[in-house]
Amino acid sequence: NAQIADNNTLDLATTLQDTFGHAQFRPLQQEIIQCLLKGNDTLVIMPTGGGKSLCFQLPALHLPHTTLVISPLIALMQNQVDALQASGIAATCINSSLEPAEASERERAAIRGDYKLVYLSPERLMSSAGYRLLTKMPVNLIAIDEAHCISEWGHDFRPEYRMLGDLRIQHPDRFAKTPIVALTATATPRVAEDIQRQLHLINPQIFHTSFERPNLRYEIRPKHEMMKQVLEYLEQNQDHEGIIYCQSRARCEQIAEQLQRRGISALPYHAGLENNVRKQNQHDFIYGSARIIVATIAFGMGIDKPDVRFVFHADLPRHIEGYYQETGRAGRDGMIADCILFYSAADRTKVEYFIEQKEDPEQRDHAYWQLNKMIRYAHTTDCRCIPLLDYFGEEHSGDCGHCDNCLNPPKLIEATEDARKLLSAIARTDQRYGLSHIIDILRGSNAQKIIDRNHHNLSVHGIGRDKPKSHWLNVAETLLRDGHLGMTIDEFRTTHLTESSPSILRGELPITVAISRAISTREDITVKR
Ligand code: ADP
Ligand code: ZN
Repeated sequence: NAQIADNNTLDLATTLQDTFGHAQFRPLQQEIIQCLLKGNDTLVIMPTGGGKSLCFQLPALHLPHTTLVISPLIALMQNQVDALQASGIAATCINSSLEPAEASERERAAIRGDYKLVYLSPERLMSSAGYRLLTKMPVNLIAIDEAHCISEWGHDFRPEYRMLGDLRIQHPDRFAKTPIVALTATATPRVAEDIQRQLHLINPQIFHTSFERPNLRYEIRPKHEMMKQVLEYLEQNQDHEGIIYCQSRARCEQIAEQLQRRGISALPYHAGLENNVRKQNQHDFIYGSARIIVATIAFGMGIDKPDVRFVFHADLPRHIEGYYQETGRAGRDGMIADCILFYSAADRTKVEYFIEQKEDPEQRDHAYWQLNKMIRYAHTTDCRCIPLLDYFGEEHSGDCGHCDNCLNPPKLIEATEDARKLLSAIARTDQRYGLSHIIDILRGSNAQKIIDRNHHNLSVHGIGRDKPKSHWLNVAETLLRDGHLGMTIDEFRTTHLTESSPSILRGELPITVAISRAISTREDITVKR
């Protein structure tokens, strides 16, 4: 075993400062590095931006030979290798994008032990060239980045990762004692167990930092005049660059176009674009020539842009895990960033409609379970970190100081009478209309569709004229949330009464609605780190 390196704390701090330019370790980094230098297998679970790379890059410099890094994305590898080389560290990557001659040249150098770090894709590692390389290269440490890719329970399963489980089996004499460090930002216990089992980790030490991201400001806003809200934000934060996530390709195109028409440089990103266009758009965003990328969830993994200042969700994400990963791309530099989710009940039924299409009842139940967690997150008037981190099995005590509910607690208003008005309008129109038609009636609209149906002669016509549309939407959202109002799960989203509606109509149940207030409406906010 070659773990003869000096892992004196002082030396580690010196390398941190002199080579990486950081004054202090982030939580658990030092403990992880020491654990690896002692030769232990290790599992690192740390949120995106937590500083996982340093956990294997720094010990690599304190080990006599080479650290082998397995990483799933060529772009990600290249970024890290460029940064290491810029710091004067001998590092390289070997993957399918290289000319064969170049690849074998690098392989020969790796075998000679010329590098401190060698990055390999899993396909390469498991090819015959990779096999040869592994039998000859002097390896002290193996780092498996994005280790959740090995698990089908993760959100990004990659079949090539499966083969990594054979590393120790294929090369028992070489790697039985070489420590393996697996790193991931996926925190579900099932995935963590799967990683350990599949990689055959031996008594691994597990390091798990909190998944709270104190520099992210979480905010939910009613999805009402969303474009107006987005434009206002962009106007007020001229130097902010960010990501807008949408659920469909068409929406991406549409929003990007709307922004472009207003002279804002925004580009779409989704799986329907030509490969080279997609790459170019991503490149333009990362290197700053485009301010905004409007993307489906296809955009994300391995995007190393530290100064993303906002992540907006224009549509409701299907689960908290995805939402967490997507918002997690903001503020990787540790500076404050805004995460705003635009929420509406109509979006909820859209997701339900989608779930209903699933054939397998087990999958359907699981999707509903996930959606309900998401809804609970969106509706809470308590600290958002509680439901957010609960998803990862972490108990948060609340009062995080960086979500909308903590920074600017929602105002509660009495709305029993308004709830009655809304439900009456639904009853008077035979429960056959969508929400916006009902609100148009309440607000006394004389639009043609109202006249055609003779709805201007209803007694409820205009009884809610004194309040804005946003108020009526808020009342409806609250009734929907609590089951006093129903909406069909189809594209019409017709509203209807429920079992408990009559008690609201009779005024027996008081209704309170929460008016969430945007974080930005308060001036005196400081976010604790
Ligand atoms: P992860 O892989 O966990 O998502 P990275 O390894 O990419 O995170 O690190 C995220 C950012 O944090 C990088 O810009 C990195 O330079 C920075 N970083 C890592 N460790 C430290 C530290 N000890 N002090 C300051 N910045 C750090
Ligand atoms: Zn909070």
